[in-house]
Amino acid sequence: MSVTQQQVLDTLKKIRSPRGVALTEANVLSAITASDGKVFFSINVDANEARAWEGVRAEAEAAVRAIAGVSTALVALTAERRPGAAAPAPQRHAPGHTHGVQPVSAHRPPQSPASPMSRQAEIPGVAAVIAVASGKGGVGKSTTAVNLALGLSDLGLRVGLLDADIYGPSIPRLTGLHEKPELTEERKMIPLQRFGLSIMSIGFLVEEDTAMIWRGPMVMSAINQMLRDVAWGTLDVLVVDMPPGTGDAQLTLAQNVPLKGAVIISTPQDLSLIDARRGLAMFRKVNVPVLGIIENMSYFQCPHCGSRSDIFGHGGARHEAERLGVPFLGEIPLHMAIRETSDSGHPVVISDPRGTHAAAYRAIGSAIRDQLKGVIAAA
Ligand code: ADP
Repeated sequence: MSVTQQQVLDTLKKIRSPRGVALTEANVLSAITASDGKVFFSINVDANEARAWEGVRAEAEAAVRAIAGVSTALVALTAERRPGAAAPAPQRHAPGHTHGVQPVSAHRPPQSPASPMSRQAEIPGVAAVIAVASGKGGVGKSTTAVNLALGLSDLGLRVGLLDADIYGPSIPRLTGLHEKPELTEERKMIPLQRFGLSIMSIGFLVEEDTAMIWRGPMVMSAINQMLRDVAWGTLDVLVVDMPPGTGDAQLTLAQNVPLKGAVIISTPQDLSLIDARRGLAMFRKVNVPVLGIIENMSYFQCPHCGSRSDIFGHGGARHEAERLGVPFLGEIPLHMAIRETSDSGHPVVISDPRGTHAAAYRAIGSAIRDQLKGVIAAA
């Protein structure tokens, strides 16, 4: 038996909102997705009201889960900050969520209770969460995130991959995964398994078009649920494929996710280096160590003869990394095989594990692992 949108609405009608009217009358609900017993929607409110609505979110989620035929319900609270409004108060996390992991660098400044980083809480069982970010879209961030996760896994680490690019989730396409996650008895989502990775994406829960509802509103509630309401198990590294850009949403995400480091993806063109600089500045602002820059589409490699052409003025990212004092992690060529394997759901590290591209991703993974060694060992 499959649940309908109307059944969900009938259930939500019975829930009262902090505005004194029924939840369905409060003008806060997104479109409701209900298919195959999986229900997903969001409650969109002003950031200053967000705390008052958290209970309603939980109540709505529990009520929808209790409808006969519902196997998964995910209700996200998204909060939009109006121009000129005061910043929302930091979220508090249950003490049980904290987890003793050493900071990645002795130079990382201690965080005062008033700092934005105090919103963070570690994810139990996960030693290091790292972000893969880019100043703009289309530079190969997701392709790099998947292959990097596979490279780290090849080194013997237990690796998870979280697609936090909720504006345009591409991990389902890059991994060929389209199933919906099941729930544990504790009602946590079980990440999908592929190529030895534990993988979670908003794209597993909603159709691609529906993900567009995230445009505009802040996205923290959804990201937090994908981080914390997922049974990640024990992981050495959780690789987070961030949304592209360095706007408010990314800054908020960097403040809220307990990141041990960030990797910036850039193409050699000047423009994207400017964007990469913004990315760097953003992570520095929230005290997240930058593990380094990867130059993607670094040079063109002919798929037929293997010859190399530096059509983009190669070397810009290495030079920029040196200038900015961050590690240069490596370069990945623009190669047909990388595009074809990514887009067909068999990333190059899996489809050609002995090839030079796989070796390049593993080498980058190894440089990152070395930087995280203390954190992983401490966990
Ligand atoms: P982003 O996440 O930055 O938007 P994607 O990872 O989705 O970018 O990549 C955009 C497109 O570029 C995809 O079609 C992908 O296959 C392709 N691509 C990414 N990196 C490379 C590369 N090194 N060589 C060839 N194609 C690439």
